[in-house]
Amino acid sequence: MTLMMREEYIESLRAMTKRVFIMGQEVENVVDHPLVRPSLNACAMTYALAQMPGDGDLARATSNLTGQQVNRFTHLHQDPSDLVTKVKMQRRLGQMTGCCFQRCVGMDALNALDSVTCEMDEASGTEYHARFRRYLQYVQERDLVADGAMTDPKGDRRLSPSQQADPDLYVRIVDRRPDGIVVRGAKLHQTGALNAHEIIVMPTRALSEQDQDYAVAFAVPADAPGIVMIYGRQPSDTRKLEGSQIDVGNRQFGGHEAVIILDDVFVPWERVFMAGESAFSGLLVERFAGYHRQSYGGCKVGVGDVLIGAAQALACYQGTDRASHIRDKIVEMIHLNETLYACGIACSAEGTPASSGTYLIDLLLANVCKLNVTRFPYEIARLAQDIAGGLMVTMPSEKDLAHPEVGPYLAKYLRSVDRYTTEDRCRMLRLVENLTLGPGAAAYLTESMHGAGSPQAQRIMLARLADLEEKVRLAQKLAGIKEQAPDA
Ligand code: SF4
Ligand code: FE
Repeated sequence: MTLMMREEYIESLRAMTKRVFIMGQEVENVVDHPLVRPSLNACAMTYALAQMPGDGDLARATSNLTGQQVNRFTHLHQDPSDLVTKVKMQRRLGQMTGCCFQRCVGMDALNALDSVTCEMDEASGTEYHARFRRYLQYVQERDLVADGAMTDPKGDRRLSPSQQADPDLYVRIVDRRPDGIVVRGAKLHQTGALNAHEIIVMPTRALSEQDQDYAVAFAVPADAPGIVMIYGRQPSDTRKLEGSQIDVGNRQFGGHEAVIILDDVFVPWERVFMAGESAFSGLLVERFAGYHRQSYGGCKVGVGDVLIGAAQALACYQGTDRASHIRDKIVEMIHLNETLYACGIACSAEGTPASSGTYLIDLLLANVCKLNVTRFPYEIARLAQDIAGGLMVTMPSEKDLAHPEVGPYLAKYLRSVDRYTTEDRCRMLRLVENLTLGPGAAAYLTESMHGAGSPQAQRIMLARLADLEEKVRLAQKLAGIKEQAPDA
């Protein structure tokens, strides 16, 4: 099997024995839990898309390892067109779900590990790359969801991992055995962890030789002994427990993040892809972050399409769609959203091959993409709220809308343009609320800020990657000034 059906994916998760805690309770049946199910529905769309005619082409690729058709989320990018198609697929899935569909972190981890393990072997004579490719073939043939786990708790940010008062604040090797390693630590903000088959752990920062035990990358089944997941809350999440159809805003889909505890987890050598090569830790972080910064030029744009559509629909429902300032605001939202997409496409089209043959994005442009993502969705959300109006946050519940006594009052007094129903208006207002204030805002806004690195991380990369000296030379030449190196 190289392409799993949506239903098979859901059943495959049922067969796993993950340890999961949600709001203080250990949960046996994670798959059907009402707080988790919307995120599972979203991740399952990565399987459903691959089965669709037309757009399904975006989610299918031919494996360079086996020649078989695989889901693009397990594929190594073979040329710039693979990178471009990845972004288009992410935009399409963002449009279909209106949320984070979670599977990109695994795709980005797999692609980053492919080139870095190859370069480690070239430099150090290790044998990680062949091992990693055997693992990747295992993932491709089973069409698995992998969680790409990078962010450590980090403790006191002034101190390196080994200087921390508690040495477990970064994931580390606590034992090396003939058959494998034992690891301990935690990963925070783990997108889609509960919906994953595999957890791929990577270091979170560049490391020095003193921190060798923290230079560790590996893959484990998500239900391996010693792994505990603790579900993260989101704004208004308990509306999902009310059986709500309207108040949740997005009826079917949502994302999730979790804390993953690694409590002395054993990893056989066959699944270890870095164990002590501290010099390559920073490169792995840079590659993974680069791919994920590209990813946001697709997924956030797709969610932006939904939000722009919701704002336009509300303008029509409320009779403001012909006002020039509303039209202008919609155009502004489109401009911002398409700028993000342009960056996602540009860093893909300018991709170049690594020595493993897998294509890398243009790192400078991917960082520009992500730095824009830290800002533009906030402005798009602000404009959507401006167009939606205050009713979005003062509107009574759907139970009031359905109430025999007060429901008719609301149907009468919340009606706007006559040809649209009050319920349609309320549903659309709740969708904007979801995306800009509710659980959807966790992904569309806060994750846009901090996911794949906070804005300062991108600024550091821009300062490093832009060839300022060359720009000075260009200016000197045109100004007729003899070429001289600028002060450092
Ligand atoms: Fe994919 Fe976007 Fe979610 Fe990251 S935030 S996993 S890129 S959908
Ligand atoms: Fe993310």
